[in-house]
Amino acid sequence: MTEIFRLEELFPENALPKEQNINFHKALSMGESFAKKNVKPNNCLICNSSKNPFCNSHSVPARCLRAIAINGDVKIFNGLVKIPAVDDDKGVNEAGTFRLICRDCDEKIFKEYETFEKYPDKNPPDKVLHQIALKNYLKFYYKKAVEAKAFPKMLENLQLPNSALLEPVLKPGDRDKKDSFKAIYDTKKLLNSNTNGYYRIVEYRKLDYTCPFAFQGSISLITGFDGEIINDVFNTDKKYDLQDMHVCVFPEKDYTYIIVFYKKHFQRYSQFAKHYSNLSQEERLQLLLYIILKYSEDYFYSASIQTIENDPVVHDAITTTTMMICDYEEEEGAKIKKCIQEYNLNNYKKLPNVLSKCYVKS
Ligand SMILES: [Zn+2]
Repeated sequence: MTEIFRLEELFPENALPKEQNINFHKALSMGESFAKKNVKPNNCLICNSSKNPFCNSHSVPARCLRAIAINGDVKIFNGLVKIPAVDDDKGVNEAGTFRLICRDCDEKIFKEYETFEKYPDKNPPDKVLHQIALKNYLKFYYKKAVEAKAFPKMLENLQLPNSALLEPVLKPGDRDKKDSFKAIYDTKKLLNSNTNGYYRIVEYRKLDYTCPFAFQGSISLITGFDGEIINDVFNTDKKYDLQDMHVCVFPEKDYTYIIVFYKKHFQRYSQFAKHYSNLSQEERLQLLLYIILKYSEDYFYSASIQTIENDPVVHDAITTTTMMICDYEEEEGAKIKKCIQEYNLNNYKKLPNVLSKCYVKS
């Protein structure tokens, strides 16, 4: 699964005068809050019961956010893009939350993975990885469900003359929603199936310091280091599955866990994995940061590193997505070629490596 586009790319904000621009962003965030109120399902997606109270589940364990929060707040994506009238930080209790499952399930089904104290020295068992994957798919599903509700509302608020143009953009979200629903279902089954070695673990490392950055998510790389296609995000063939990889940066008070893994049968990652294993530990951290910034917006960072907000290299990494790179009219083949250039992983080397020990404030 991948972020094909971002909300703010749908609209020609730079063409608007400042005041209108602020109104426009208000319309966007009103649409989003409307959607969040309206996507809660009637039944818990895990146990299917409607009796238990729903939970505000955290996309990244709340303990990680607490470890990097300053005065109870963590910085979010908008700290880097600075959309007016949208928050750039959030309180730990509301940062990256979703409401799809009941409290009982939330306490039970993520327990092993959220208990870092019991993590082994060597690779974690499949159960921990299944739990991480399940959380990622729930969060992705929620995001797509919110977008599906939010976009029509936003368009209504904005009353743009050319809103019909946006329809093709809204449709891929539907496919993502269906795909992630299936992924939730499949992973739920895996939880009780006692598998062993279901994933290829690309990285499992405990750092002896607190990274000022937290992330957990599923990312579908478009390309690796050598121009190979890992995921052709423009391929709409129903038989073509996107292959995703799970990336985690879990900071705690005195340490941080870094975990990266994908399903073992996802052969399209093998070239990437080989290249990755040849990198030094510092390079790996820098690369993972690049991948997270490039492909996601669901990360959190500490105000202690907010100087990165003005770093042009960081801005270069975050402000591109497939939709900005390609025009609608372009041939499919040309689109993926452009993306391969844009997402080439060799570009990670200039980023300030905020996952590295030298960024830790003592
Ligand atoms: Zn439940």
